[in-house]
Amino acid sequence: MEFINLRAQYFYLQEEIDRSIQSILQSTKFIHGEQVEEFEQKLADYVGVRNVITCSDGTAALQLIFMAYGIGEGDAIFCPDMTFIGSIEGACMLGATPIFCDIDKDSYNLSARSLERQIKEVIKEGILNPKAVVIVDFVGNPADYDTIREISERYKLLLIEDAAQGMGGSSRGIKCGAFGEVAATSFFPSKPLGCYGDGGAVFTDNDNMAKIIKSLREHGKQRDKYDNVRIGINSRLDTLQAGILLCKLDVLSEEIIKRQKIAERYRQGLTAYLKTPVIAADSISAYAQYILRTESRQQRDFIVKYLEKKKIPTIIYYPKPLHKLPVFEGYNLYGEELKEASDYADTSLGIPFSPYIQEIEQELVIEHIIEAVKKVN
Ligand SMILES: *Cc1c(COP(=O)(O)O)cnc(C)c1O
Repeated sequence: MEFINLRAQYFYLQEEIDRSIQSILQSTKFIHGEQVEEFEQKLADYVGVRNVITCSDGTAALQLIFMAYGIGEGDAIFCPDMTFIGSIEGACMLGATPIFCDIDKDSYNLSARSLERQIKEVIKEGILNPKAVVIVDFVGNPADYDTIREISERYKLLLIEDAAQGMGGSSRGIKCGAFGEVAATSFFPSKPLGCYGDGGAVFTDNDNMAKIIKSLREHGKQRDKYDNVRIGINSRLDTLQAGILLCKLDVLSEEIIKRQKIAERYRQGLTAYLKTPVIAADSISAYAQYILRTESRQQRDFIVKYLEKKKIPTIIYYPKPLHKLPVFEGYNLYGEELKEASDYADTSLGIPFSPYIQEIEQELVIEHIIEAVKKVN
């Protein structure tokens, strides 16, 4: 069984994808091919933002945002403790300091209360300048945008959405990627909208910032890349990836509907045994991962081993909260316990999930998980 069945998706779209790749091979416009702008326009329409600026990967998309907004030395960047390091790596590289906040025990997204406590602590300490907050649509579940925005406005923080896991998800009719002043996503192959390599994008309604980010992604260009007006980076999405993404974007809405059905099947089969995802009534999760919670680490590890024996792949996503990563050892936690993020790392379990998983595969997963739970108890 595949963890995320990218092969089934390819077979479903094979004709379109093969045709698209062939036409790009023949055009030899591997960089700046017309498919790049076409994809940017279509994705902007889909998400409902004025500008999409594609780039080389999701980490670079966030880095471009941090660069464009002048984030650097002395700035505090607030983020959930449970996310991928890529959410804030670019800010750290520019000299800013990440401030880890706990997550909500049900949504697994940034906790508004923890965020506000950390902001107050940083202000009280008076060394760092509270600058931005990165919200993450963790495992595809839209962040609690309205509550966080109220806080970010009150403390005049830039609100950045990391929608790397959220493409296709929405909250109150607003699509992930359209929250915040500016947002980023990743097209890493296993993400809800993935390409066949690395890729990423920035989303913003701010035309001026879009112009700066376009310049930054290509060596700080003005008219062209030999007319440089600022120090930038080289971070373009190549034409082949754009051609593939165009085919995949066509079926994203359809896939999101399938994801809801599959998630519901898992919920019905497993909710009596383990905690299943909690999605707000007015949200649609992209289910980048389907995450179960166990009662203890011991129970989780037993289930993982049991499923492994049955050849059912699982994932621990992520095994450590940011504050426990070696690279952040000794960082000031401002007295915050970060307990929910730590508990999540110890008791979460991702099970096979994709829009293309078969009903019989799902039944097998459910059956073996129930067996494992009964054995460990
Ligand atoms: C994948 C991911 C990134 C980074 O994306 P890459 O394309 O791998 O650089 C950033 N943040 C989150 C939350 C992610 O899941």
